[in-house]
Amino acid sequence: MSRNNAHPGTDPGKHWRQETLLLHQDAHLATDTSVVAPIHYSATFRADTPEEFAEMANTPRHPGFYSRYGNPVHKRVEAVIAALEGTETALLTASGMGAISTTVLGLVKQGDHVIAQRRHYMSTSKLFEEVLPRFGVASTIVDQTDLDELAAAIRPETRLIMVETPVNPTLTLTDLAAVATLARARGILTIADNTFASPLNQKPHDLGIDIVVHSATKYFGGHHDITAGAVCCSEELAEKIWSMHVTLGSVLSPMDAWLLLRGLRTLSLRMERINANALALAQWLETHPAVERVYYPGLASHPQHELARRQMSGYGAVIAFSLKGGFQAGTRFVSALRLATHAVSLGGVETLAVHTAAMWAGTMTEEQMISAGIEPNFIRMSVGVEHIDDLKADLAQALEPDPAGI
Ligand SMILES: *Cc1c(COP(=O)(O)O)cnc(C)c1O
Repeated sequence: MSRNNAHPGTDPGKHWRQETLLLHQDAHLATDTSVVAPIHYSATFRADTPEEFAEMANTPRHPGFYSRYGNPVHKRVEAVIAALEGTETALLTASGMGAISTTVLGLVKQGDHVIAQRRHYMSTSKLFEEVLPRFGVASTIVDQTDLDELAAAIRPETRLIMVETPVNPTLTLTDLAAVATLARARGILTIADNTFASPLNQKPHDLGIDIVVHSATKYFGGHHDITAGAVCCSEELAEKIWSMHVTLGSVLSPMDAWLLLRGLRTLSLRMERINANALALAQWLETHPAVERVYYPGLASHPQHELARRQMSGYGAVIAFSLKGGFQAGTRFVSALRLATHAVSLGGVETLAVHTAAMWAGTMTEEQMISAGIEPNFIRMSVGVEHIDDLKADLAQALEPDPAGI
């Protein structure tokens, strides 16, 4: 069981297509002859000589020194994710927020200025709007669909721009190539949260974005069983972010890293089905009399459909739609679902749906929700890999008019 027992014929090259690299990109990192990667359940690793110990301790991102610094299973997952995003390397974290906060905190210092979007994943907004200012990092929040507003927000001390596309609640897009061009000309780093699209549908790094972050809890894991995150970037940036990672300690367990690797093996199969199912459902919902409006980048009615076609090759699992009939209609719909599961999250094999306004139902009236910009009749759905006819049948019965006429 030599440490250098590479899989014969392994050639981790750029020529492999996504379907292939998902299965084989990490084979050259095999530590023994098992066909499936072993789980290295060890917090610490032995050195055979004092020289080796010194080398292990002083090599950044060493995969076999101490598991907060790296682990052989992490290394394999990182190889696959980096190849998928087209970046030099990747760094695994214990969650998507672990990836985002470690990246941002690893790159800014007091006195820096950062720019983020008006809409982001909620905890990302909190990082930019509340946490960074507490440590002397100023942030400006811009409407990501307005490039002039973005350009005007740039200051001499602007260090990074954070974007996320598509983004909740109405699947608004950010023009990645345009943001990258704007930032690169001024030496500003760009970070894109690519969770909602997945690299099979969108490749921010190919469009000029420096750092791509993921909640691997979503499509990568794909089974709604683990939380995990990833940062994809150059070796140079990864080393910087890793040194913050060692301090913050958002470390994925070897078991969850292994489950993530197992999830990644089928990512392209799942994405194909998810893209097809979600587009079909979005089109079908658009024609349904109980539905007011559907938001999905793949629909011709999406206000940025042209941009979607330019920067995405598929449109992902998430569909948002509003129902006729206000808050009650939302409550009725999620209660009536029989196949789709009433739960948050996205990108897994099972279809999930939530009535987002219900989260505020205990604390706000319907009128208060509307004035706070929360649509009381809004449904967010993550379409899974079930048969499309079964999904349509479930939605159809849940959308049927209430026999009591409420
Ligand atoms: C879920 C999600 C996150 C956070 O990821 P966790 O794995 O839950 O920490 C960040 N960004 C987006 C777009 C997400 O959907």
